[in-house]
Amino acid sequence: MNASAAIGVTGLGVMGRNLARNFARNGYTVAVHNRSAGRTHALVEEFGHEGAFVPAESPAEFVAALERPRRLMIMVQAGAATDAVIGEFAPLLDAGDMIIDAGNAHYADTRRREAALRERGLHFVGTGVSGGEEGALHGPSIMVGGSAESYAVLGPMFEKVSAQVDGEPCAAYIGSDGAGHFVKMVHNGIEYADMQLIAEAYDLLRQVAGYTPGEIADVFRRWNEGRLGSYLVEITAEVLAHVDAETGAPFVDVVVDAAGQKGTGRWTVQTALDLASPVTAIAQATFARAASGQSELRAAYAGLPGGTRPKLSRTEAERFASQVEHALYASKVIAYDQGWKMIQDAAAEYGWKIDLGTVARIWRGGCIIRASFLDRIRAAYAADRDLVSLLGEMEFAMEITDAQVPWRETVSSAARRGVPVPAFSAALAHYDTLRAGRLPAALLQGQRDYFGAHTYGRTDRPGAFHTHWAAPGRPETTA
Ligand code: NAP
Repeated sequence: MNASAAIGVTGLGVMGRNLARNFARNGYTVAVHNRSAGRTHALVEEFGHEGAFVPAESPAEFVAALERPRRLMIMVQAGAATDAVIGEFAPLLDAGDMIIDAGNAHYADTRRREAALRERGLHFVGTGVSGGEEGALHGPSIMVGGSAESYAVLGPMFEKVSAQVDGEPCAAYIGSDGAGHFVKMVHNGIEYADMQLIAEAYDLLRQVAGYTPGEIADVFRRWNEGRLGSYLVEITAEVLAHVDAETGAPFVDVVVDAAGQKGTGRWTVQTALDLASPVTAIAQATFARAASGQSELRAAYAGLPGGTRPKLSRTEAERFASQVEHALYASKVIAYDQGWKMIQDAAAEYGWKIDLGTVARIWRGGCIIRASFLDRIRAAYAADRDLVSLLGEMEFAMEITDAQVPWRETVSSAARRGVPVPAFSAALAHYDTLRAGRLPAALLQGQRDYFGAHTYGRTDRPGAFHTHWAAPGRPETTA
């Protein structure tokens, strides 16, 4: 067989098939392979006219079809399946070849695989791909890890098949080993937070303002024209306006209120705990999904006393809706900021040099959190590469200042009326934590020293101190 393929894709499920077609439609010759050959033949039969495909039945045939240095993309389930496929193909490759894992791998697995394959002279390119089935075909957001050397070869290809916004590709090199998969994981965590915040805004408009789903769809359509304009707000309006054909009821009222999850939000929260990175809005959004699924517990306690819900007049409801817009926006800034800070914390831990503005740039298209808002984040990091928080950027700071009263009014209205808003509350508490100056953590340190002699620092001099709590009055000692 002629080694004519610029790239090979193995694993032709939902994502692999569409990514292979995307490469072919962009003029690349693509070798295609699947564990069960049926999918390979189906792809070529159905979409062969879209470009140049080289179907391969065996791993050896597949590898022989690839130009050197070989570029072999794996698109299978994360975990054991990915290890099995690497184990099958790595022995067939030569030094300098590249294995691209475009599945949703955990970044720690990517780091392990990269180190092992580097020993064998192979480039392992952990690549986060966002945008689902449609994105894979028409242009995803692509977050690339691995060596800079491999990106020099693969970058132009990824940039060509990715989503394009204002003439710029939504694909970029993120950093070494697991950086691409890490950033993809945080993208999904932010997505959880954004979705939960939107859902809480909906709940408040329904429970407090008394709007119907159709009216709330109109509110979201209006918001989509402004600073909240985004794919998620746009589809929220569509979902809320949808009427169930069978019953004539609002679609949202016939859906079981237990949210599913595939696990990347959970990974974000688990990893954040290890990094001591307080992504509280993302965590609350993840726990809110878990809580929604505890149907027995919820059924047992439904109807317990809570707040009161006086009916708002039309004018009051409109005023309330405008407060919720501020609360949603301010909470969204905090949730995104937490995600970016988590990336900074991981970069410090793993020695990644991540350009934070680039992350915002490649999320403007192709992925679920795509939004005009990301242009602003990009500009903030372009103006100051070392920006620690978006709250340090003047425009964001001004917006958060303007949101103070309506944001707090929204969260306190929710508490008074007994409407759960865990993500709004977490975002506001995070903001208050940052601005507090002094936190009750000093008392925690006292408690820790009392029961465990864990020592504490003093505000008036350096060092670690311990107080003899059993004998009050005895002087503290330096640990
Ligand atoms: P899928 O439709 O279920 O396809 C899975 C593919 O993996 C099939 O081609 C299957 O081959 C192959 N496979 C599974 N185990 C294998 C093994 N042990 N050895 C060899 N091949 C094996 O999955 P998908 O939705 O395309 O997802 C693929 C990856 O993309 C996953 O990591 C997923 O998390 C990620 N991802 C998915 C989305 C999405 O929206 N679906 C978005 C972003 C990322 P057979 O045909 O022989 O079973």
